Amino acid sequence: MDKISVIVPCFNEEEAVPLFYKEINKVIKKMSNVSFELIFVDDGSRDRTLNIIKEYREIDSNVRYISFSRNFGKEAAIYAGLEYCTGDYVTLLDADLQDSPEFIEKMYKIITTEDVDCVGLKTDTHKEYGIFRRFLTRCYYKLISKLSKVEMVPGARDFRLMTRQMVNAILELKEYNRYSKGIFSFVGFKTKWLSYEVPKRVAGKSKWNIFKLFTYAVDAIIGYSTVPLTIAVIVGVLFCLISLISIIFIIIRTLIFGDPVAGWPSLVCIMFFLSGIQLFCTGISGAYISKTYTEVKGRPIYIIRETEKKSKMNENERKTLINKEKGWQK
Ligand code: UDP
Ligand code: MG
Repeated sequence: MDKISVIVPCFNEEEAVPLFYKEINKVIKKMSNVSFELIFVDDGSRDRTLNIIKEYREIDSNVRYISFSRNFGKEAAIYAGLEYCTGDYVTLLDADLQDSPEFIEKMYKIITTEDVDCVGLKTDTHKEYGIFRRFLTRCYYKLISKLSKVEMVPGARDFRLMTRQMVNAILELKEYNRYSKGIFSFVGFKTKWLSYEVPKRVAGKSKWNIFKLFTYAVDAIIGYSTVPLTIAVIVGVLFCLISLISIIFIIIRTLIFGDPVAGWPSLVCIMFFLSGIQLFCTGISGAYISKTYTEVKGRPIYIIRETEKKSKMNENERKTLINKEKGWQK
């Protein structure tokens, strides 16, 4: 019997987790020919998310969890889940039910019958986002696919079902600055894409804002492309050439017409412009250096505070839970 590991990163999802648990259990019941393992990765939530997960663990041995010592980000949570899971197939889902669990059945059917290693979902429409954000997203995908060598599918979600082989390949990429979409396309393998319309979040709030998205986008470009460095070099060479030509021009003009002191304002403008360009290019190199710096430090991608094997639940909490469970069984 095949085993599917479901990895669910959760950050302050106390409202969404119960709804998610209900929905995923419907799928588990339906797919009786497969065994399941639910891995909740609590990414340093500050609300009751972890307690809720622990309650489920007490009544359901399919539930496993990892809880981080602080918030490490979704990418770290995904990596931790992939390291921790034991299934033959692995799927990644958001807790907010934006990735509808009922797709798992279809994905499993495809991955076991067709010659593919991964079944992913992509979306063309995103109801939650306004026109402006959708436009920015489209531009961004165009830009990054031009700049980087790996192909990034526009609108691809992290929601996918992968074979163990692909998961192991992903685990080989131990970099600190993680960008899942890039990692998935870097490891390659045959992926089949299904289209769907992303529904709205069932509960809770999205953890993204425009600033976080912008940093995420820049990180991705820096992580998967060195083209900006080349651009900096080209711009540098171009400006050297322009100044060389201007110097020759000025020398000749002075020789012919003498030296009238004129054009201070334009000179100041040019100086500002050039120093702007210089700072921009230094900034680009700085961005790469900072990424190198964080990689070289070799810090762990995440730090675990507790798991279901080493729970911090005390005896009292456990007793109340067991009583509660008896109540549920009646
Ligand atoms: N998430 C996480 N750590 C974070 C931010 C988000 O584990 O620092 C989880 C979150 O709980 C959710 C998933 O990642 O299950 C997607 O987050 P969200 O819904 O905020 O992103 P969106 O769907 O808006 O892209
Ligand atoms: Mg979401």
